[in-house]
Amino acid sequence: MATITNHMPTAELQALDAAHHVHPFSTQADLEKSGVRVITGAKGVWLTDSEGSEILDAMAGLWCVNIGYGRDELADVAARQMRELPYYNTFFMTSHVPVIALSAKLAELAPGDLNHTFFASSGSEANDTNLRLVRTYWGEKGKPSKQVIISRWNAYHGSSVGSASLGGMKGMHAQGGLPIPGIHYINQPDWWSEGGDMSPEDFGLARAQELEQAIIDLGEDNVAAFIAEPIQGAGGVIIPPETYWPEIQRICDKYEILLIADEVICGFGRTGSWFGSQTVGIRPDIMTIAKGLSSGYQPIGGSILSDEVAAVIGATEFNHGYTYSGHPVASAVALENLRILEEEKIVDTLRDDTGPYLKAKFEEMAEHPMVGEAKIIGAMGSLALTPDKGARAKFAADAGTVGYMVRERCFANNLVMRHVGDRMIISPPLTITKGEIDTLIARAWQSLDEGMANVKDAGLF
Ligand code: PMP
Repeated sequence: MATITNHMPTAELQALDAAHHVHPFSTQADLEKSGVRVITGAKGVWLTDSEGSEILDAMAGLWCVNIGYGRDELADVAARQMRELPYYNTFFMTSHVPVIALSAKLAELAPGDLNHTFFASSGSEANDTNLRLVRTYWGEKGKPSKQVIISRWNAYHGSSVGSASLGGMKGMHAQGGLPIPGIHYINQPDWWSEGGDMSPEDFGLARAQELEQAIIDLGEDNVAAFIAEPIQGAGGVIIPPETYWPEIQRICDKYEILLIADEVICGFGRTGSWFGSQTVGIRPDIMTIAKGLSSGYQPIGGSILSDEVAAVIGATEFNHGYTYSGHPVASAVALENLRILEEEKIVDTLRDDTGPYLKAKFEEMAEHPMVGEAKIIGAMGSLALTPDKGARAKFAADAGTVGYMVRERCFANNLVMRHVGDRMIISPPLTITKGEIDTLIARAWQSLDEGMANVKDAGLF
């Protein structure tokens, strides 16, 4: 077989990809028809494809490239670590310097007494760990009946059997016999779509109080934990009303259940604080981390545990672990990523300078005739598309039809923006400059205008 390189014609790369590569969250038949976009390089917020197009990545890959693409320091650290110690495990009373250093750094950065990290290679694995961990915790505390984990419809916590069960994506549950038993779902705090005639404040409280009702219905003695993303990401960047999280914290304090904040997207600066829990003002017992931990340069995730949870779990053998838990190369790269985030004040700049600039420009898009709600927190934002803003109406087509039409225009305009149903979402690298924000917004407006023309042609607007 000929060597496959960046210089091969795109059509050949596409044909090979369609023939041999099975893609996540894709309809394989569509890929065979239209051909994938082949990304060949990246720098900062810019991707290059095999046709030489320069594409602004307003999704930071999959919400993960927080420091931007192309940082040589991370490549250098990876090469150095591979030469020195490419692999060793952390089972059976062994450790190594990169994982020791990373664990200590995370204890310093994470709020409160979240001082202990159990490592995984992804957010899904880390949430699988959490599932077993919280149930084990209560068993060790002499309360083995506390097994149920409460989650939310439209939450995303991963794709493995455990983490997809923890998630509340009905389309995922429909495939592969999910969810596993012992997970209970309450409704999400999405005022735009589900708030009806309530004020956002009342709706936020009502949705939080569903947690209290669920605990009462299930029995406090049967509930182990509540898991939630501080800001739902894959569900459409749902920024809850301000009343929501304080009420959730009150309920968690009142009843004996653990709070798991899934920080896989929100962690490492995405919301303008180091962790989303700080932005929304909660005190979790466990935080799930991944993505921005290494800015996606290496696959690494984990669960950061409070002193109390770690003490209980640590008192016995926790029969759980991954070959790559605390992988030395991934740990070294994550540590270097954290150094850059901290020393270059990337989170502070987003919070104080570029974030407010992006927010002002992004929220102006609410003036577009097809945009009802334009909300953003830090560098994660969402536009709710609607044919009638006043009524917060849905389009007369399957959810996602219009979102997909706008997404197509974004693609054509060299802007990576994702659609979740009929919401358009962004999550760019945190290092995006004001000039790049202007380009992002200009391309988004243009894509909305062109998308709206197509939506009108289809008789949906
Ligand atoms: N939790 C959240 C909140 C996520 O957004 C994701 C990924 N999008 C995951 C967990 C799963 O992470 P991974 O894809 O690394 O398994």
